[in-house]
Amino acid sequence: MRRPITFSTNLRSRLAGAVGVLVLGATMLAGPLAVDVAEHDLRAVLGAQQYASLSGAAAFLDDLLEARLRQMAALAAAMPADARNDPRRLQAWLANRTADVGDEFINIAAFARNGELVASGASMPTAQPLTATGRPYFEETLLRGRGIVSDPLQSRLSGANMVLVTAPVFDDHGEIVYVLTGRIDLQHARFLRQVDALRPGSTGYLFLMSADGTLIDSPVRERQTAPPADQPGLGRALHGFEGWLIGGDRDGAAIVTYKRLTTTGWILGARYPEAEAFAPLARVRRTVLVVAGILALVAGLLAWWLVRRGLRPLDALHRNVAAVRHEGAGSEVLALARNDEIGELGRAFHDLVQARGRAAARMRAIADNVPAVIAYVDRDERFEFTNAGFDRMIGSAPDAFIGHTVREALGEAGYARLEPLIRAALRGEHGHVEDVRSDDATRHQMIDTIPDIDADGRVVGFFVMAMDISERKEAELAQAASEQRLRLIADNLPVLICYIDRNHRMGFGNATFQAWLGLEPVRLPGMHLQEVLGKPAYDAARPRLRQAFEGVGATFEMPLQAQGRHRILEWTFVPDVQAQGRVSVAVAGVYALAHDMTRVKEAESRLVQMARFDSLTGIANRRLFGELLGQALERVRRQRQVMGLAYLDIDHFKAINDTWGHGVGDEVLKEFAQRLAGCVRVTDTPARLAGDEFVVLLEDVKGIDEAERIGAKIVEVIRKPFATGAGPLDVTASVGITLVHGIDGPLPTQDQVLGWADTALYAAKHGGRNRCVVRLAEEAVGVPATGVPAQ
Ligand code: GH3
Ligand code: MG
Repeated sequence: MRRPITFSTNLRSRLAGAVGVLVLGATMLAGPLAVDVAEHDLRAVLGAQQYASLSGAAAFLDDLLEARLRQMAALAAAMPADARNDPRRLQAWLANRTADVGDEFINIAAFARNGELVASGASMPTAQPLTATGRPYFEETLLRGRGIVSDPLQSRLSGANMVLVTAPVFDDHGEIVYVLTGRIDLQHARFLRQVDALRPGSTGYLFLMSADGTLIDSPVRERQTAPPADQPGLGRALHGFEGWLIGGDRDGAAIVTYKRLTTTGWILGARYPEAEAFAPLARVRRTVLVVAGILALVAGLLAWWLVRRGLRPLDALHRNVAAVRHEGAGSEVLALARNDEIGELGRAFHDLVQARGRAAARMRAIADNVPAVIAYVDRDERFEFTNAGFDRMIGSAPDAFIGHTVREALGEAGYARLEPLIRAALRGEHGHVEDVRSDDATRHQMIDTIPDIDADGRVVGFFVMAMDISERKEAELAQAASEQRLRLIADNLPVLICYIDRNHRMGFGNATFQAWLGLEPVRLPGMHLQEVLGKPAYDAARPRLRQAFEGVGATFEMPLQAQGRHRILEWTFVPDVQAQGRVSVAVAGVYALAHDMTRVKEAESRLVQMARFDSLTGIANRRLFGELLGQALERVRRQRQVMGLAYLDIDHFKAINDTWGHGVGDEVLKEFAQRLAGCVRVTDTPARLAGDEFVVLLEDVKGIDEAERIGAKIVEVIRKPFATGAGPLDVTASVGITLVHGIDGPLPTQDQVLGWADTALYAAKHGGRNRCVVRLAEEAVGVPATGVPAQ
């Protein structure tokens, strides 16, 4: 079997190949490039050389034409006077001269001033007279008064191409009488033959044109008559260009040079074909190419071999790295002893592999000691990493699943439980599920999948973490049961119980809210306290609530109107203090309890009533009287009023009891109290002190007279018969009144005031009963009283 041809593509081969090819290419290019540069320089040298040599040729031709002009001028000057005057003599003279100058001019002719041909060295045309009038050479000669060389002309007689050299003939007065013309036949003149030595190379040639481009002389046969219109640079030359240029035409590339003649303005050109000009250089180029090729091959091979050899240690390092990665070789093979960059690279790899090993060991130790199952699964759902948790939770060996798919490892049922999480992870989403039951449903698990996303955003695998949360679940259930019990208790207490958060919204509320406020407990969470209690109650509770949120509990009473009932509630706010760190605490909310105090309050007010009023007669008792007397004395002192105190005692009451019985006695006491209350001002307060003793506090008494009037009125009211169970009874009473004013001295005590009134009463009793006695406070006991006996 033939082995397929393979190309080694490792870095070393590629570098060696690239360097070899570069060296080969560079060496190959260097020779021809050098030749190119040389050729460029050579062109400039050749061009300059050509121009110099053409300038020489042009100078030579200028000299030649100058000589012809001088020759014609000399001829004109030498014309004898008789020939000037006699045409026949002129004809003869010209014939002789033409023979003399036969080498230079084919014919010499003389034209009169009017242009008429007068004589001709060669045979005279006879058919018709020739005239030069209007011809540029003739007119210009007349105009300038000196000879010129004409542009190329075609002979009207022979049709040959020619140029004429003119010279004016002057008479004795300096006037032009004739114009001599010397004809040069271009066919025979062969100007260029005279400068043939300056022709470039063996294939190059010179050519001569008039200023307008008419070809005067050219060695190339086919261009004898037609101008070299396609000559490179011709257009520029006609516009005055002088110098050399390189151009190509149908004959190939050539160095073409132009130079103008100063005598006639004619253009002398030279064409030097490059094929000849650069022939030696082309030979050199071929040689250079061969030599450079051989040299390049040798240099390229050498470079290739040197690079391969130089990079051999890199290959060894590569093999060692591969051995460490794939064959489990120890990292020490990387610790090369070389003292260069590759050695450094090897040692760096060695250190990295070791560090990676240590990091992996640390990670493994952490993963194995976490109380959870941790695994890494690749895109194909195959386990790449599993921790010791597998052993603890599933009972498998830690590495048993590596390389197996999740389905293979956990079975269909296990896979089905995880499938939604795996799908989520492969979509790049975090998967989380709690309450996954174990196969025997005795354990609870919480499973998380976290996608592993590479730098390009692709999911390359995912992490799985599973924790046994059975104990937490049990604790949650136990807590729920405990909360249930607590709620049962709370709901059955005749107390409002609720939790208020920092925003004054309800956390929870017990069933009593339904009974007292008509609010279902399920609706309470989130409700604002103002909504629950109504604005007035909420406003009243707010300061206490603020205080509770500052950590100080509060108990206070507050009325609540709801469900058509008025209740007096006693609220207790208990701050829910939660520790924050070591020292600081925060109040997260407030527990509020409210008892219904309505009944208690009612009972309380009844007790107060009982304690302060006489149970038999219903008027104030001694206790309330004491309070009122204290207040009245205070007013006396403040308002500087006069206060009266009437002390009353039923006369011979014992006898009524004894005669008619205790019940009739009680009837008399009640009637007595009513009459007393009825005959004094509303501001005056009657009270029963004990037995048949009563008092009346008389506010703002103007003086003794008024006190006496009041006393008399009481005595009068009592004297009317009392309707009793034993029939109408005559009852009388004795009254002692004392007056107190706060003008001088210290305020008297209650006992003092009562004592004074009692003294007055004693005086009334003593004075015969059924009467009133008024005494001033300052009057001592024993001072005669003002008695008001009954009528
Ligand atoms: P005097 O004119 O001097 O006041 O003679 P008197 O009989 O009224 O004597 P005194 O005021 O000392 O007697 C008061 C009597 O009132 C003595 C007591 O038996 C009687 N008594 C006291 N409390 C009650 C009561 O609540 N009901 C009845 N029916 N009698 C009472
Ligand atoms: Mg009495």
